[in-house]
Amino acid sequence: MSKIHNFSAGPSILPKEVIDAAADAVRSFDGMGLSLIEISHRSKNFEAVMEEARQLVKDILRLPARYEVLFLQGGATLAFHMVPQNLLRDGGKAAYANTGVWASGAIKDARLTGQVDVIADSSDKNHSYIPDVEVPADVDYFHFTSNNTIYGTQYQTFPKSPVPLVCDMSSDIFSKEFNAADFSLIYAGAQKNMGPAGATLFILDPEVLGKTGRKLPAYLDLRAHIDKDSMYNTPPVFAVYTSMLTLRWIRDNGGLAGMETRNRAKKELFYNELDRNSMFKGHSVPRDRSWMNATFMLNNETLAGDFDALWKAAGISGIKGHRSVGGYRASMYNALPIESVQVLVDVMNEFERTKG
Ligand SMILES: *Cc1c(COP(=O)(O)O)cnc(C)c1O
Repeated sequence: MSKIHNFSAGPSILPKEVIDAAADAVRSFDGMGLSLIEISHRSKNFEAVMEEARQLVKDILRLPARYEVLFLQGGATLAFHMVPQNLLRDGGKAAYANTGVWASGAIKDARLTGQVDVIADSSDKNHSYIPDVEVPADVDYFHFTSNNTIYGTQYQTFPKSPVPLVCDMSSDIFSKEFNAADFSLIYAGAQKNMGPAGATLFILDPEVLGKTGRKLPAYLDLRAHIDKDSMYNTPPVFAVYTSMLTLRWIRDNGGLAGMETRNRAKKELFYNELDRNSMFKGHSVPRDRSWMNATFMLNNETLAGDFDALWKAAGISGIKGHRSVGGYRASMYNALPIESVQVLVDVMNEFERTKG
């Protein structure tokens, strides 16, 4: 089989060595002769996995000692509900920025808990830019989505906030340097930049919890998970183990600084070609372009069949755009090698040479 260049938006590419090690562990874990997925999560062997995964997150993000790291289930989608349930006081309000489908899903679910003020909104231009925001001081927290996976926009600097800052980082966590201690709570589904679907990472300052006066069912209560070291109930063992392998890979490849260097080179290679090539235009305004998801379309849609045939022949997979934007989306997560971006750039070049 010739090489496949995996630009899938999510679930998405993981390092080859991670896939190999995860496959080995499914057959026999830690030389036990038993599969990772058929042993007790309370075994010493698995407890060590959970502990290492949580510690790697702390180390890679250089978290202050009081911060907690949890691997839960339900995806970012359940976090849309858990965040207001844990942080929004009875009679209080929260501020949100609406920068696309995921942000508006978070807003919609938060409104089931309490008052939500949308203080920034980019829906007037199909979320092709990041709106300016001034965070008020009289809300319980401010929530935003750091990278808008569908539209290909990304905050290049984070909003300053007088209140706890909460962020959905599902599609750009661990992709470049940032100061995690500026955030009170970060959540991210594993399946874009960290592992398989099934685990949701929570990073939080526990000081923000316990202020709502609300009684929560155990699973929704972040304090229940903290008290049990992220083992309140059976964790998604395969997703946690594979995420741990990816976290080791991130650490061994220079941590956030290393990822930033890799990802900067890839996004520059791609966007330089997009700007140079007369056949394409981008969706996002240049200032807010995502390093992770590049959205672009043909100037002449009638040539789609020709372009599609070229990239398919080159072994490219997963660049069809999301239906709410159309065109193409090249997702360039941490594990995507720059060689794959070069193949896409060569195809775009060839397309212009033959059809331009
Ligand atoms: C994919 C994605 C989600 C949805 O995540 P699930 O894990 O499927 O619930 C939410 N937010 C962002 C930014 C995403 O990219």
